[in-house]
Amino acid sequence: PGHQLPHDPEKKTLVILGSGWGATSVLKTLETDDYNVIVISPKNYFLFTPLLPSVAVGTLNPRSIIQPTRYVTRHKKRQVAVIEASATEVDPIAKTVKFEDTSEIQGLVSNTTISYDYLVFAVGAEVQTFNIPGVREHACFMKELEDAEKMQRHFLDCLESAAFPGQSQEEINRLLHMVVVGGGPTGIEVSGEIHDFLEEDLRSWYPELANSVHITLVEALPSVLPMFSKQLIEYTESTFKEQNIDILTKTMVKEIKEKSVVLQKPDKTIVEIPCGLVIWAAGNKLRKVTQDLMGKLPQYQTNRRGITVDDHLRMVGTDGSIFAVGDCAATSYAATAQVASQQGSYLARILVQIAKKDALEAQLHALESAPVTEEREAEKHNIEKQLKKVENLRPFKYSHQGSLAYIGSDKAIADFPFFNGNLATGGVATYLFWRSAYISTLFSLRNRTLVATDWIKVKLFGRDVSRE
Ligand code: FAD
Ligand code: NAD
Repeated sequence: PGHQLPHDPEKKTLVILGSGWGATSVLKTLETDDYNVIVISPKNYFLFTPLLPSVAVGTLNPRSIIQPTRYVTRHKKRQVAVIEASATEVDPIAKTVKFEDTSEIQGLVSNTTISYDYLVFAVGAEVQTFNIPGVREHACFMKELEDAEKMQRHFLDCLESAAFPGQSQEEINRLLHMVVVGGGPTGIEVSGEIHDFLEEDLRSWYPELANSVHITLVEALPSVLPMFSKQLIEYTESTFKEQNIDILTKTMVKEIKEKSVVLQKPDKTIVEIPCGLVIWAAGNKLRKVTQDLMGKLPQYQTNRRGITVDDHLRMVGTDGSIFAVGDCAATSYAATAQVASQQGSYLARILVQIAKKDALEAQLHALESAPVTEEREAEKHNIEKQLKKVENLRPFKYSHQGSLAYIGSDKAIADFPFFNGNLATGGVATYLFWRSAYISTLFSLRNRTLVATDWIKVKLFGRDVSRE
Protein backbone atom coordinates (compact mmCIF):
# COMPACT_ATOMS: atom_id res chain seq x y z
CA PRO A 1 0.00 0.00 0.00
CA GLY A 2 2.95 2.40 -0.52
CA HIS A 3 5.08 4.39 1.88
CA GLN A 4 3.52 4.57 5.37
CA LEU A 5 4.05 6.98 8.25
CA PRO A 6 5.48 5.50 11.48
CA HIS A 7 2.47 4.70 13.62
CA ASP A 8 2.08 3.14 17.07
CA PRO A 9 -1.65 2.69 17.89
CA GLU A 10 -0.80 2.99 21.62
CA LYS A 11 0.36 6.58 21.13
CA LYS A 12 -1.48 9.74 20.17
CA THR A 13 -0.64 11.45 16.91
CA LEU A 14 0.92 14.90 17.15
CA VAL A 15 1.01 16.89 13.91
CA ILE A 16 3.22 19.99 13.76
CA LEU A 17 2.54 22.47 10.95
CA GLY A 18 5.57 24.56 10.00
CA SER A 19 9.35 24.41 10.33
CA GLY A 20 10.05 27.97 11.48
CA TRP A 21 10.90 29.39 14.91
CA GLY A 22 7.84 28.06 16.73
CA ALA A 23 7.74 24.58 15.19
CA THR A 24 11.51 23.98 15.37
CA SER A 25 11.57 25.03 18.98
CA VAL A 26 8.79 22.52 19.78
CA LEU A 27 10.69 19.81 17.94
CA LYS A 28 13.99 20.53 19.62
CA THR A 29 12.59 20.16 23.14
CA LEU A 30 9.94 17.49 22.48
CA GLU A 31 10.18 13.93 23.83
CA THR A 32 9.26 12.18 20.61
CA ASP A 33 8.66 8.76 22.18
CA ASP A 34 5.46 10.09 23.74
CA TYR A 35 3.71 10.55 20.38
CA ASN A 36 3.55 9.61 16.72
CA VAL A 37 5.10 12.88 15.51
CA ILE A 38 4.52 14.24 12.01
CA VAL A 39 5.95 17.56 10.79
CA ILE A 40 4.44 19.16 7.70
CA SER A 41 5.98 22.25 6.09
CA PRO A 42 6.47 23.48 2.52
CA LYS A 43 10.11 24.16 3.47
CA ASN A 44 12.14 21.16 4.62
CA TYR A 45 14.37 23.48 6.63
CA PHE A 46 14.44 26.04 9.43
CA LEU A 47 15.32 29.60 8.34
CA PHE A 48 17.23 31.81 10.77
CA THR A 49 15.35 35.04 9.88
CA PRO A 50 17.45 37.56 11.89
CA LEU A 51 20.32 37.09 9.44
CA LEU A 52 18.20 37.15 6.26
CA PRO A 53 19.06 40.78 5.37
CA SER A 54 22.76 39.79 5.45
CA VAL A 55 22.07 37.23 2.72
CA ALA A 56 20.43 39.91 0.57
CA VAL A 57 23.72 41.80 0.24
CA GLY A 58 25.96 38.73 -0.02
CA THR A 59 27.55 38.96 3.46
CA LEU A 60 26.25 35.48 4.21
CA ASN A 61 25.76 32.50 1.99
CA PRO A 62 22.04 31.51 1.85
CA ARG A 63 22.84 27.98 2.99
CA SER A 64 24.62 29.22 6.11
CA ILE A 65 21.37 30.39 7.72
CA ILE A 66 19.18 27.38 7.05
CA GLN A 67 19.13 24.05 8.78
CA PRO A 68 17.37 20.95 7.42
CA THR A 69 14.49 19.93 9.68
CA ARG A 70 15.75 16.37 9.49
CA TYR A 71 18.92 17.61 11.18
CA VAL A 72 16.82 18.07 14.33
CA THR A 73 14.58 15.05 13.96
CA ARG A 74 17.26 12.47 13.18
CA HIS A 75 18.71 12.83 16.69
CA LYS A 76 15.37 12.07 18.30
CA LYS A 77 14.70 8.86 20.22
CA ARG A 78 11.74 7.87 18.11
CA GLN A 79 11.36 8.42 14.38
CA VAL A 80 9.63 11.63 13.31
CA ALA A 81 8.00 11.91 9.89
CA VAL A 82 8.98 15.06 7.99
CA ILE A 83 6.74 15.85 5.04
CA GLU A 84 7.47 18.65 2.57
CA ALA A 85 3.96 19.94 1.88
CA SER A 86 1.62 22.86 2.58
CA ALA A 87 -1.33 22.35 4.85
CA THR A 88 -4.36 23.56 2.92
CA GLU A 89 -7.18 22.83 5.36
CA VAL A 90 -7.59 21.98 9.02
CA ASP A 91 -10.87 20.54 10.24
CA PRO A 92 -11.03 21.18 14.00
CA ILE A 93 -14.12 18.99 14.45
CA ALA A 94 -13.05 15.89 12.49
CA LYS A 95 -9.43 16.57 13.63
CA THR A 96 -7.89 16.20 10.21
CA VAL A 97 -5.31 18.10 8.17
CA LYS A 98 -5.33 18.18 4.42
CA PHE A 99 -1.98 18.88 2.78
CA GLU A 100 -0.42 18.97 -0.66
CA ASP A 101 2.97 18.93 -2.28
CA THR A 102 3.31 22.43 -3.72
CA SER A 103 6.92 22.13 -4.89
CA GLU A 104 8.04 21.98 -8.53
CA ILE A 105 8.28 18.20 -8.74
CA GLN A 106 5.44 15.91 -7.68
CA GLY A 107 4.92 12.18 -7.61
CA LEU A 108 1.71 10.35 -8.48
CA VAL A 109 0.40 11.13 -4.99
CA SER A 110 0.63 14.81 -4.12
CA ASN A 111 -2.21 15.47 -1.70
CA THR A 112 -3.79 13.63 1.19
CA THR A 113 -5.55 14.01 4.54
CA ILE A 114 -4.41 12.68 7.92
CA SER A 115 -5.96 12.61 11.39
CA TYR A 116 -4.41 14.14 14.48
CA ASP A 117 -5.02 13.94 18.20
CA TYR A 118 -3.00 17.10 18.83
CA LEU A 119 -2.07 19.78 16.32
CA VAL A 120 0.61 22.42 16.74
CA PHE A 121 -0.29 25.22 14.37
CA ALA A 122 2.90 27.19 13.65
CA VAL A 123 2.59 28.33 10.03
CA GLY A 124 3.80 31.90 10.69
CA ALA A 125 2.51 34.79 8.62
CA GLU A 126 2.89 36.12 5.11
CA VAL A 127 3.80 39.52 3.74
CA GLN A 128 1.17 42.24 4.06
CA THR A 129 0.74 44.12 0.78
CA PHE A 130 -2.56 45.88 1.63
CA ASN A 131 -3.40 45.07 -2.03
CA ILE A 132 -1.40 48.12 -3.04
CA PRO A 133 -1.03 48.00 -6.83
CA GLY A 134 2.30 46.77 -8.17
CA VAL A 135 3.73 45.44 -4.89
CA ARG A 136 3.65 41.77 -5.85
CA GLU A 137 4.81 42.47 -9.43
CA HIS A 138 7.63 44.93 -8.84
CA ALA A 139 8.91 44.82 -5.25
CA CYS A 140 11.22 42.38 -3.45
CA PHE A 141 10.06 41.00 -0.10
CA MET A 142 12.32 40.10 2.85
CA LYS A 143 10.63 37.10 4.40
CA GLU A 144 11.82 33.87 2.79
CA LEU A 145 15.26 32.77 1.67
CA GLU A 146 14.33 33.19 -1.99
CA ASP A 147 13.31 36.82 -1.29
CA ALA A 148 16.83 37.66 -0.12
CA GLU A 149 18.36 35.87 -3.10
CA LYS A 150 16.03 37.73 -5.46
CA MET A 151 16.93 41.06 -3.89
CA GLN A 152 20.65 40.34 -4.28
CA ARG A 153 20.16 39.47 -7.97
CA HIS A 154 18.07 42.57 -8.67
CA PHE A 155 20.41 44.86 -6.78
CA LEU A 156 23.45 43.64 -8.74
CA ASP A 157 21.44 43.83 -11.97
CA CYS A 158 20.68 47.50 -11.24
CA LEU A 159 24.42 48.12 -10.75
CA GLU A 160 25.43 46.33 -13.95
CA SER A 161 22.72 48.12 -15.96
CA ALA A 162 23.88 51.44 -14.55
CA ALA A 163 27.43 50.52 -15.68
CA PHE A 164 26.24 49.89 -19.25
CA PRO A 165 28.11 52.22 -21.65
CA GLY A 166 26.25 55.37 -22.62
CA GLN A 167 23.77 55.30 -19.72
CA SER A 168 22.66 58.87 -18.90
CA GLN A 169 23.29 60.23 -15.39
CA GLU A 170 19.53 60.51 -14.88
CA GLU A 171 19.05 56.81 -15.68
CA ILE A 172 22.03 55.87 -13.49
CA ASN A 173 20.43 57.79 -10.61
CA ARG A 174 17.16 55.96 -11.15
CA LEU A 175 18.74 52.52 -11.36
CA LEU A 176 20.76 53.13 -8.22
CA HIS A 177 17.92 54.56 -6.15
CA MET A 178 16.93 51.86 -3.64
CA VAL A 179 13.60 52.41 -1.90
CA VAL A 180 12.86 50.48 1.30
CA VAL A 181 9.19 50.51 2.35
CA GLY A 182 8.48 50.07 6.08
CA GLY A 183 10.40 51.50 9.01
CA GLY A 184 9.96 48.42 11.22
CA PRO A 185 13.06 46.43 12.18
CA THR A 186 13.13 44.58 8.83
CA GLY A 187 13.22 47.79 6.77
CA ILE A 188 15.83 49.35 9.07
CA GLU A 189 18.12 46.31 8.97
CA VAL A 190 17.88 45.97 5.18
CA SER A 191 18.76 49.68 4.74
CA GLY A 192 21.74 49.30 7.09
CA GLU A 193 22.98 46.24 5.20
CA ILE A 194 22.71 47.96 1.78
CA HIS A 195 24.66 50.89 3.21
CA ASP A 196 27.44 48.56 4.46
CA PHE A 197 27.65 46.83 1.09
CA LEU A 198 28.00 50.22 -0.56
CA GLU A 199 30.72 51.50 1.76
CA GLU A 200 32.69 48.30 2.25
CA ASP A 201 32.62 46.87 -1.28
CA LEU A 202 30.84 48.82 -3.98
CA ARG A 203 33.15 51.80 -3.59
CA SER A 204 36.02 49.61 -4.73
CA TRP A 205 34.18 47.38 -7.22
CA TYR A 206 32.16 50.16 -8.89
CA PRO A 207 34.07 53.37 -8.02
CA GLU A 208 32.44 55.35 -10.85
CA LEU A 209 28.92 54.47 -9.67
CA ALA A 210 29.16 54.36 -5.88
CA ASN A 211 28.38 58.05 -5.40
CA SER A 212 25.14 57.66 -7.34
CA VAL A 213 23.75 54.96 -5.03
CA HIS A 214 20.98 56.41 -2.90
CA ILE A 215 18.79 54.75 -0.24
CA THR A 216 15.35 56.07 0.81
CA LEU A 217 13.33 54.54 3.63
CA VAL A 218 9.59 55.25 3.53
CA GLU A 219 7.43 54.93 6.66
CA ALA A 220 3.73 55.74 6.99
CA LEU A 221 3.86 56.48 10.74
CA PRO A 222 5.43 59.57 12.35
CA SER A 223 8.55 57.61 13.34
CA VAL A 224 10.53 54.49 12.51
CA LEU A 225 10.88 51.58 14.97
CA PRO A 226 7.89 52.37 17.20
CA MET A 227 8.78 49.42 19.50
CA PHE A 228 12.08 51.02 20.54
CA SER A 229 12.60 53.90 22.99
CA LYS A 230 12.68 57.51 21.81
CA GLN A 231 16.41 57.71 22.47
CA LEU A 232 17.16 54.71 20.23
CA ILE A 233 14.86 56.02 17.50
CA GLU A 234 16.83 59.28 17.51
CA TYR A 235 20.13 57.37 17.49
CA THR A 236 18.94 55.38 14.45
CA GLU A 237 17.74 58.51 12.67
CA SER A 238 21.03 60.32 13.22
CA THR A 239 23.07 57.26 12.16
CA PHE A 240 20.98 57.03 8.97
CA LYS A 241 21.61 60.72 8.33
CA GLU A 242 25.37 60.14 8.55
CA GLN A 243 24.95 57.17 6.23
CA ASN A 244 23.06 59.36 3.70
CA ILE A 245 19.93 57.26 4.03
CA ASP A 246 16.85 59.46 3.66
CA ILE A 247 13.99 58.66 6.01
CA LEU A 248 10.58 59.85 4.81
CA THR A 249 8.09 59.49 7.69
CA LYS A 250 4.32 60.15 7.50
CA THR A 251 4.69 59.07 3.88
CA MET A 252 2.61 56.28 2.37
CA VAL A 253 3.48 54.19 -0.65
CA LYS A 254 0.39 54.18 -2.86
CA GLU A 255 1.62 52.26 -5.88
CA ILE A 256 4.75 50.61 -7.19
CA LYS A 257 5.51 50.78 -10.89
CA GLU A 258 8.26 49.08 -12.87
CA LYS A 259 10.57 52.07 -12.62
CA SER A 260 9.11 54.22 -9.83
CA VAL A 261 7.21 54.45 -6.55
CA VAL A 262 4.14 56.62 -6.04
CA LEU A 263 4.15 58.30 -2.62
CA GLN A 264 1.61 60.26 -0.66
CA LYS A 265 3.50 62.95 1.27
CA PRO A 266 2.50 64.24 4.75
CA ASP A 267 0.62 67.15 3.10
CA LYS A 268 -1.34 64.50 1.10
CA THR A 269 0.21 65.48 -2.22
CA ILE A 270 1.18 62.63 -4.53
CA VAL A 271 4.67 62.34 -6.02
CA GLU A 272 6.20 59.73 -8.29
CA ILE A 273 9.86 58.97 -7.61
CA PRO A 274 12.05 57.05 -10.06
CA CYS A 275 13.90 54.06 -8.60
CA GLY A 276 15.68 50.86 -9.59
CA LEU A 277 14.67 48.57 -6.71
CA VAL A 278 11.91 48.54 -4.10
CA ILE A 279 12.19 46.38 -0.98
CA TRP A 280 8.81 45.83 0.65
CA ALA A 281 8.97 45.36 4.44
CA ALA A 282 5.53 46.63 5.47
CA GLY A 283 4.67 43.91 8.00
CA ASN A 284 2.74 40.66 8.33
CA LYS A 285 -0.70 39.30 7.51
CA LEU A 286 -2.35 35.97 8.26
CA ARG A 287 -2.00 33.06 5.87
CA LYS A 288 -5.10 31.74 4.12
CA VAL A 289 -4.94 28.39 5.96
CA THR A 290 -5.02 30.34 9.27
CA GLN A 291 -7.92 32.56 8.19
CA ASP A 292 -9.86 29.51 7.01
CA LEU A 293 -9.30 27.66 10.29
CA MET A 294 -10.44 30.71 12.28
CA GLY A 295 -13.45 31.00 9.98
CA LYS A 296 -14.56 27.53 11.14
CA LEU A 297 -14.92 28.78 14.74
CA PRO A 298 -16.46 32.20 14.06
CA GLN A 299 -17.98 32.70 17.50
CA TYR A 300 -14.56 32.29 19.21
CA GLN A 301 -12.03 33.48 16.66
CA THR A 302 -12.68 37.11 15.86
CA ASN A 303 -9.26 38.75 16.32
CA ARG A 304 -8.04 39.93 12.92
CA ARG A 305 -4.41 39.75 14.09
CA GLY A 306 -4.49 35.98 14.53
CA ILE A 307 -5.62 32.91 16.44
CA THR A 308 -6.88 33.59 19.96
CA VAL A 309 -5.28 31.20 22.44
CA ASP A 310 -5.70 30.62 26.19
CA ASP A 311 -2.92 30.74 28.80
CA HIS A 312 -1.74 27.30 27.64
CA LEU A 313 -1.61 28.30 23.96
CA ARG A 314 -4.70 26.21 23.18
CA MET A 315 -6.84 27.61 20.38
CA VAL A 316 -10.00 29.01 21.93
CA GLY A 317 -13.14 27.24 20.70
CA THR A 318 -11.47 23.82 20.31
CA ASP A 319 -11.41 20.98 22.87
CA GLY A 320 -7.73 21.63 23.57
CA SER A 321 -6.48 19.62 20.61
CA ILE A 322 -5.08 22.59 18.65
CA PHE A 323 -2.22 24.75 19.92
CA ALA A 324 -1.10 27.89 18.09
CA VAL A 325 2.36 29.46 18.45
CA GLY A 326 4.32 32.27 16.82
CA ASP A 327 3.19 34.85 14.28
CA CYS A 328 -0.12 33.10 13.51
CA ALA A 329 -1.32 33.55 17.11
CA ALA A 330 -2.70 36.82 18.47
CA THR A 331 -1.16 37.41 21.90
CA SER A 332 -0.11 40.50 23.80
CA TYR A 333 3.48 39.95 22.61
CA ALA A 334 5.17 41.17 19.43
CA ALA A 335 5.49 38.88 16.42
CA THR A 336 9.09 37.90 17.08
CA ALA A 337 11.34 34.86 16.93
CA GLN A 338 11.98 35.28 20.63
CA VAL A 339 8.28 34.87 21.47
CA ALA A 340 7.74 32.00 18.98
CA SER A 341 10.71 30.01 20.29
CA GLN A 342 9.74 30.46 23.95
CA GLN A 343 6.19 29.39 23.12
CA GLY A 344 7.57 26.37 21.26
CA SER A 345 9.71 25.10 24.10
CA TYR A 346 6.91 25.73 26.61
CA LEU A 347 4.56 23.69 24.44
CA ALA A 348 7.03 20.81 24.14
CA ARG A 349 7.20 20.67 27.92
CA ILE A 350 3.46 20.67 28.47
CA LEU A 351 3.01 18.08 25.72
CA VAL A 352 5.09 15.71 27.87
CA GLN A 353 2.72 16.38 30.76
CA ILE A 354 -0.32 15.93 28.50
CA ALA A 355 1.03 12.56 27.28
CA LYS A 356 1.39 11.43 30.91
CA LYS A 357 -2.12 12.61 31.68
CA ASP A 358 -3.57 10.86 28.64
CA ALA A 359 -1.78 7.60 29.55
CA LEU A 360 -3.07 7.75 33.15
CA GLU A 361 -6.60 8.51 31.97
CA ALA A 362 -6.47 5.52 29.62
CA GLN A 363 -5.33 3.28 32.52
CA LEU A 364 -8.10 4.65 34.72
CA HIS A 365 -10.65 4.08 32.00
CA ALA A 366 -9.51 0.44 31.62
CA LEU A 367 -9.77 -0.11 35.39
CA GLU A 368 -13.21 1.45 35.55
CA SER A 369 -14.57 -0.87 32.90
CA ALA A 370 -13.13 -3.98 34.65
CA PRO A 371 -14.95 -5.72 37.57
CA VAL A 372 -14.27 -4.06 40.95
CA THR A 373 -11.68 -5.70 43.23
CA GLU A 374 -9.88 -4.30 46.21
CA GLU A 375 -6.60 -4.34 44.36
CA ARG A 376 -8.06 -2.43 41.40
CA GLU A 377 -9.63 0.15 43.73
CA ALA A 378 -6.23 0.78 45.33
CA GLU A 379 -4.64 1.11 41.91
CA LYS A 380 -7.38 3.49 40.80
CA HIS A 381 -6.77 5.61 43.84
CA ASN A 382 -3.08 5.69 43.09
CA ILE A 383 -3.67 6.73 39.46
CA GLU A 384 -6.11 9.44 40.55
CA LYS A 385 -3.42 10.81 42.84
CA GLN A 386 -0.88 10.85 40.02
CA LEU A 387 -3.43 12.46 37.71
CA LYS A 388 -3.91 15.34 40.14
CA LYS A 389 -0.19 16.05 39.86
CA VAL A 390 -0.06 16.22 36.06
CA GLU A 391 -3.49 17.79 35.53
CA ASN A 392 -2.43 21.27 36.50
CA LEU A 393 -0.60 22.77 33.54
CA ARG A 394 1.32 25.90 34.33
CA PRO A 395 0.49 28.79 32.02
CA PHE A 396 2.87 30.20 29.40
CA LYS A 397 4.97 33.12 30.62
CA TYR A 398 7.08 35.16 28.25
CA SER A 399 10.43 36.35 29.49
CA HIS A 400 11.63 39.28 27.39
CA GLN A 401 15.39 39.17 26.81
CA GLY A 402 15.53 42.54 25.05
CA SER A 403 15.17 43.79 21.48
CA LEU A 404 18.11 44.18 19.16
CA ALA A 405 18.34 45.60 15.66
CA TYR A 406 21.32 46.12 13.36
CA ILE A 407 21.43 49.60 11.81
CA GLY A 408 24.57 49.44 9.63
CA SER A 409 28.15 50.78 10.05
CA ASP A 410 28.84 48.07 12.66
CA LYS A 411 26.23 49.58 14.96
CA ALA A 412 23.20 48.01 16.57
CA ILE A 413 20.52 49.27 18.95
CA ALA A 414 19.21 47.34 21.93
CA ASP A 415 16.53 47.71 24.58
CA PHE A 416 17.22 45.48 27.58
CA PRO A 417 14.63 45.05 30.31
CA PHE A 418 17.16 45.05 33.16
CA PHE A 419 16.71 46.38 36.70
CA ASN A 420 12.94 46.83 36.26
CA GLY A 421 13.53 49.53 33.69
CA ASN A 422 14.70 49.74 30.13
CA LEU A 423 18.39 50.09 29.63
CA ALA A 424 18.81 51.50 26.19
CA THR A 425 22.13 51.06 24.48
CA GLY A 426 23.47 51.51 21.00
CA GLY A 427 26.71 51.48 19.08
CA VAL A 428 29.64 49.25 18.36
CA ALA A 429 29.60 47.43 21.72
CA THR A 430 25.95 46.51 21.13
CA TYR A 431 26.84 45.34 17.65
CA LEU A 432 29.46 42.97 19.04
CA PHE A 433 26.86 41.74 21.49
CA TRP A 434 24.39 41.41 18.59
CA ARG A 435 26.76 39.26 16.58
CA SER A 436 27.70 37.08 19.53
CA ALA A 437 24.05 36.79 20.63
CA TYR A 438 23.04 35.66 17.18
CA ILE A 439 25.87 33.30 16.74
CA SER A 440 25.17 31.65 20.06
CA THR A 441 21.43 31.33 19.52
CA LEU A 442 21.90 29.80 16.06
CA PHE A 443 20.54 26.34 16.41
CA SER A 444 23.45 24.15 15.44
CA LEU A 445 27.20 24.14 15.68
CA ARG A 446 27.19 23.54 11.93
CA ASN A 447 25.36 26.83 11.23
CA ARG A 448 27.51 28.72 13.72
CA THR A 449 30.60 27.56 11.89
CA LEU A 450 29.15 28.43 8.48
CA VAL A 451 28.13 31.96 9.56
CA ALA A 452 31.45 32.66 11.32
CA THR A 453 33.35 31.46 8.23
CA ASP A 454 31.26 33.72 5.98
CA TRP A 455 32.00 36.72 8.20
CA ILE A 456 35.73 35.99 8.06
CA LYS A 457 35.61 35.49 4.27
CA VAL A 458 33.91 38.87 3.81
CA LYS A 459 36.50 40.57 6.04
CA LEU A 460 39.32 39.02 4.00
CA PHE A 461 38.00 39.18 0.44
CA GLY A 462 34.93 41.43 0.48
CA ARG A 463 31.45 40.43 -0.68
CA ASP A 464 30.98 38.53 -3.90
CA VAL A 465 29.43 40.75 -6.58
CA SER A 466 28.82 38.06 -9.21
CA ARG A 467 25.19 37.88 -10.22
CA GLU A 468 23.88 34.32 -10.17
P1 FAD B 1 8.01 31.25 10.83
O1 FAD B 1 9.35 31.23 11.44
O2 FAD B 1 7.75 32.16 9.69
O3 FAD B 1 7.66 29.75 10.39
C1 FAD B 1 6.49 29.40 9.72
C2 FAD B 1 6.71 28.05 9.10
O4 FAD B 1 5.49 27.56 8.57
C3 FAD B 1 7.69 28.07 7.95
O5 FAD B 1 8.54 26.96 8.08
C4 FAD B 1 6.81 27.94 6.73
O6 FAD B 1 7.49 27.34 5.64
C5 FAD B 1 5.71 27.07 7.26
N1 FAD B 1 4.44 27.14 6.53
C6 FAD B 1 3.96 28.16 5.78
N2 FAD B 1 2.76 27.84 5.26
C7 FAD B 1 2.48 26.59 5.69
C8 FAD B 1 1.40 25.70 5.46
N3 FAD B 1 0.35 26.04 4.71
N4 FAD B 1 1.45 24.48 6.04
C9 FAD B 1 2.51 24.10 6.81
N5 FAD B 1 3.55 24.92 7.06
C10 FAD B 1 3.52 26.14 6.50
N6 FAD B 1 12.45 38.21 15.41
C11 FAD B 1 13.27 38.38 16.48
O7 FAD B 1 12.89 38.07 17.62
N7 FAD B 1 14.52 38.88 16.31
C12 FAD B 1 14.99 39.22 15.11
O8 FAD B 1 16.11 39.69 14.98
C13 FAD B 1 14.16 39.03 13.96
N8 FAD B 1 14.60 39.36 12.73
C14 FAD B 1 13.80 39.15 11.65
C15 FAD B 1 14.28 39.48 10.39
C16 FAD B 1 13.49 39.29 9.27
C17 FAD B 1 14.01 39.65 7.91
C18 FAD B 1 12.18 38.76 9.42
C19 FAD B 1 11.32 38.53 8.20
C20 FAD B 1 11.70 38.45 10.67
C21 FAD B 1 12.50 38.65 11.80
N9 FAD B 1 12.04 38.35 13.08
C22 FAD B 1 12.86 38.52 14.17
C23 FAD B 1 10.67 37.85 13.28
C24 FAD B 1 10.67 36.32 13.32
O9 FAD B 1 11.30 35.78 12.20
C25 FAD B 1 9.24 35.79 13.38
O10 FAD B 1 8.55 36.37 14.43
C26 FAD B 1 9.28 34.27 13.53
O11 FAD B 1 9.77 33.71 12.35
C27 FAD B 1 7.91 33.70 13.86
O12 FAD B 1 8.02 32.31 14.00
P2 FAD B 1 6.86 31.37 13.47
O13 FAD B 1 7.28 29.97 13.79
O14 FAD B 1 5.55 31.84 13.90
O15 FAD B 1 6.88 31.57 11.88
P1 NAD C 1 6.53 45.90 11.06
O1 NAD C 1 5.09 45.59 11.04
O2 NAD C 1 7.24 45.97 12.33
O3 NAD C 1 6.79 47.27 10.30
C1 NAD C 1 6.21 47.58 9.05
C2 NAD C 1 6.15 49.09 8.89
O4 NAD C 1 5.73 49.40 7.57
C3 NAD C 1 5.17 49.75 9.85
O5 NAD C 1 5.85 50.69 10.63
C4 NAD C 1 4.14 50.38 8.91
O6 NAD C 1 3.68 51.64 9.39
C5 NAD C 1 4.92 50.55 7.61
N1 NAD C 1 4.06 50.57 6.41
C6 NAD C 1 3.04 49.71 6.12
N2 NAD C 1 2.48 50.03 4.93
C7 NAD C 1 3.14 51.11 4.45
C8 NAD C 1 3.03 51.89 3.27
N3 NAD C 1 2.12 51.62 2.32
N4 NAD C 1 3.87 52.92 3.09
C9 NAD C 1 4.80 53.20 4.03
N5 NAD C 1 4.97 52.48 5.17
C10 NAD C 1 4.16 51.45 5.39
O7 NAD C 1 7.20 44.80 10.05
P2 NAD C 1 8.65 44.15 10.06
O8 NAD C 1 9.70 45.15 10.23
O9 NAD C 1 8.71 43.27 8.87
O10 NAD C 1 8.61 43.24 11.35
C11 NAD C 1 7.68 42.17 11.48
C12 NAD C 1 7.82 41.52 12.85
O11 NAD C 1 9.10 40.88 12.93
C13 NAD C 1 7.76 42.53 13.98
O12 NAD C 1 7.06 41.97 15.06
C14 NAD C 1 9.20 42.74 14.36
O13 NAD C 1 9.36 43.04 15.72
C15 NAD C 1 9.84 41.41 14.01
N6 NAD C 1 11.24 41.65 13.61
C16 NAD C 1 12.15 41.84 14.61
C17 NAD C 1 13.46 42.13 14.28
C18 NAD C 1 14.46 42.35 15.38
O14 NAD C 1 14.11 42.17 16.55
N7 NAD C 1 15.68 42.71 15.08
C19 NAD C 1 13.85 42.22 12.95
C20 NAD C 1 12.89 42.04 11.94
C21 NAD C 1 11.58 41.76 12.30
